[in-house]
Amino acid sequence: MNRYSSLLEDLAENRLLRTCEVPSAALINFSSNDYLGLAHDPRLKQVAIQAIEEEGTGASASRLITGTSQRIQDLEVTLAKWHHTEAALVLNSGYQGNIAILQGLLKPGDWVFADRLNHASLVDGCLLSKAKLLRYLHLDLSDLEQKLKEAPESATKWIVSDSVFSMDGDHPDLGALATLAERYNANTLIDEAHAAGLFGDTRAGLCEQQRIAHRITLQVGTFSKALGGFGGYVCGSEVLVQTLVNQARGFIFSTALPPAVIAAAREAVQIVQTDGAPTVKLWQNVRHFREACSDHNLVLPAHESAIIPIEMGETDLALGMSEKLRDAGFLVRAIRPPTVPPGTARLRISLSASHTPTDIERLTETLAQLLPRGSERDS
Ligand SMILES: *Cc1c(COP(=O)(O)O)cnc(C)c1O
Repeated sequence: MNRYSSLLEDLAENRLLRTCEVPSAALINFSSNDYLGLAHDPRLKQVAIQAIEEEGTGASASRLITGTSQRIQDLEVTLAKWHHTEAALVLNSGYQGNIAILQGLLKPGDWVFADRLNHASLVDGCLLSKAKLLRYLHLDLSDLEQKLKEAPESATKWIVSDSVFSMDGDHPDLGALATLAERYNANTLIDEAHAAGLFGDTRAGLCEQQRIAHRITLQVGTFSKALGGFGGYVCGSEVLVQTLVNQARGFIFSTALPPAVIAAAREAVQIVQTDGAPTVKLWQNVRHFREACSDHNLVLPAHESAIIPIEMGETDLALGMSEKLRDAGFLVRAIRPPTVPPGTARLRISLSASHTPTDIERLTETLAQLLPRGSERDS
């Protein structure tokens, strides 16, 4: 027991103790990943309720026993078309899916090359696979290439990266990454968790937007962010999907997602695929926020993303700012180590199609009052 209480005390002393808090409904939420406002969309609610009425609340078994429904298979067909691939597989969450995929496809003796700032689920999946893991500098494709050169030609290689990085909002040059992969005969897994719904002609993500979906081995995503629901998925070749069905323990040994969740996911994908309006609204809001910040002389990172980090450095500063914003009526969570590297604690602002122009203007005015600006930031 002692060990655990002193761990908690240490965390508290360093202001790194985490607690689960119910966010106050009175605050305007700028920390949600519900980018398109779909989590409260009446169409999703309606199909979810109907699915419960028809099929009940639980899937009753894992996919390989009795958990595969027509509904899930229809969703998988929809996903494969959306991501321009042969096949797709629904997984029980983004986190659990990444672990299942990497464990299911990689084995000792394989080499995996991972961006240093990849999401924890990708890191954990790489570790669980027992493949040789090399982490390259964030977005640094020349460092990636150096590392690719170290692997024997005959080794099975995977390059694994977020598309849009969850805590920074930046992304790799995916075309150049695909070219490197081809040169070194490596497979690629790109996690579109923060890009699906946001980028591309049918909003499938950055691989679609950059017209390289056919050059990427696996595109991974989640229903829990822009799609307003819950669950994960992977899109790729029929052979790889069938390999996962046979080898991915996270797929084989877990009960299938409930009918309501599947129904909402399919409805969300169909809405996002056919109706660009919520995404247009989101990008208008992003632009509005950036312009308002620039009017107030607030310097933001340059990349185009719905995730806008404001780096504060030390944990105390980020927490203090988050508290002040809460007092002013905004929910903007501070992100601390180990979610981000030490010394890079930050506010992470995420914009949504459901924010109003007034929400955005009020937040930027408050930020302008609270934050050091422009050149003052460096002094
Ligand atoms: C959020 C996230 C996940 C996890 O998805 P869940 O469905 O919430 O488990 C996986 N990968 C990335 C890059 C993420 O940002």
